[in-house]
Amino acid sequence: MSFQKTPMKLPIYLDHHATTPVDPRVLEAMQPYWTQECGNPASGHVFGWKAKQAVEKARAQIAQLLAGAREEEIFFTSGATESNNTALKGAAERYAERGGHLITVATEHKAVLDVCHYLETRGFTVTYLPVDALGRLNLQDLEKAITDKTFLISVMHANNEVGVIHPLAEIGRIAKEREILFHVDAAQSAGKIPLNVEAWGIDLLSLSAHKLYGPKGVGVLYVRQNKPHVRLSPLLHGGGHEHGLRSGTLNVPGIVGLGKACEIAGAEMPEESRCVRALRDRLEKGLKQNLDRIYVNGDAENRLPHNLNISFAYVESESLLMAINESIAVSSGSACTDGSADTSHVLKALRVPPERLHTALRFGIGRFNTAEEIDFVIQKVTETVRKLRAMSPLYEAAQKGGDRRGFH
Ligand SMILES: *Cc1c(COP(=O)(O)O)cnc(C)c1O
Repeated sequence: MSFQKTPMKLPIYLDHHATTPVDPRVLEAMQPYWTQECGNPASGHVFGWKAKQAVEKARAQIAQLLAGAREEEIFFTSGATESNNTALKGAAERYAERGGHLITVATEHKAVLDVCHYLETRGFTVTYLPVDALGRLNLQDLEKAITDKTFLISVMHANNEVGVIHPLAEIGRIAKEREILFHVDAAQSAGKIPLNVEAWGIDLLSLSAHKLYGPKGVGVLYVRQNKPHVRLSPLLHGGGHEHGLRSGTLNVPGIVGLGKACEIAGAEMPEESRCVRALRDRLEKGLKQNLDRIYVNGDAENRLPHNLNISFAYVESESLLMAINESIAVSSGSACTDGSADTSHVLKALRVPPERLHTALRFGIGRFNTAEEIDFVIQKVTETVRKLRAMSPLYEAAQKGGDRRGFH
């Protein structure tokens, strides 16, 4: 890769599903827009024009990453949470006459599930599709769930805990046949794996800059403008920015950063994906060589190249996290419920055995991680798991051949 890898420093950041560091090239692109290029893109003078030009350049960079998207289909928001809210609530209001039914998946992010729960309190009905033990969706379940009242199908591209990738092309085809809007939460996949809104029949798509080495607090909602021309009610009313869909002065530095982040991600995706996959596989292999009774959660085939969600039987994830957190930053599930220690709704939906439910760690490898760091992590996690298991009477009993429940 074109940048210099930094020497190993502790703690090691391996929580790239929660957020990513801003790429130095992104920071550099943003720099002028905090100070000398201070214009409001809505202003009719040279400062405003230059800001508007920068915003439009970003729109083009983002549209390019989404393949088949046009610039006028890119709407800026504060992040994927807002994009998901706008997509679901905005469509619910405009398409309610269709009968008020929407379909989503049990393993979606809270920024979709909680919006669905809210919509249920407003009289809408929601089907939460189950997944199998590997986190995969059954397309026949989807087809069976569709009724003539269904106005929207919302399925994430890749899961933020287990990294499972859903078959968007097939889902899009089903949605198109039934003339149902198709929304995709692509916060985890955008910039990591290829996306194609045109080929896959996506009508609405959410992404977030801080998940792809851009700044926090800026995101995009892609809204199809042609076949069909999707119409959404806005959440925010005001100056009529973004064609009335999202009022409020545009976050110019953030938008410039998101544009640059998309450009870099698009250009370097094949190479970067090879690098992070190699590190992920090195980590998985190293841990499996050293430790018995560890289990990868989610589909081993169709998953994000940088994701490894792994259960260490007989070791509570909270104890393991506590024991390693001075040197390694990972998480036991998603960071998206604000640090709460609730059990993962994703692992529950996969119906993993209880011994695996409370013993999972999610590793998220990133652009700037190195093989040296991964080797340190293998070493540290191995030592810690062995130490914690040495204090576990259950593990000892299992070693003597007693307990094989759910550990195959
Ligand atoms: C991070 C994330 C979000 C929320 O994005 P924000 O920009 O932080 O609001 C939504 N969905 C998924 C799948 C995510 O990973």
